[in-house]
Amino acid sequence: MTQVTVRPCPQCQRPCTQDASNPFMPFCSRRCKDADFLHWANDEHRIAGLHTPWTDHESD
Ligand SMILES: [Zn+2]
Repeated sequence: MTQVTVRPCPQCQRPCTQDASNPFMPFCSRRCKDADFLHWANDEHRIAGLHTPWTDHESD
């Protein structure tokens, strides 16, 4: 008895399988998983203020 749960991928909204056969769940693919991680990482960097004002000043 196998019950397959299918939900939209949080990244691309395409239906994808949510079980152990999907190593990228809750995403549909590695691409979507990576894209979400990059998005998250960028947010973190912005929040942490890793933009360096001195670099900006120097290049001006
Ligand atoms: Zn996807």
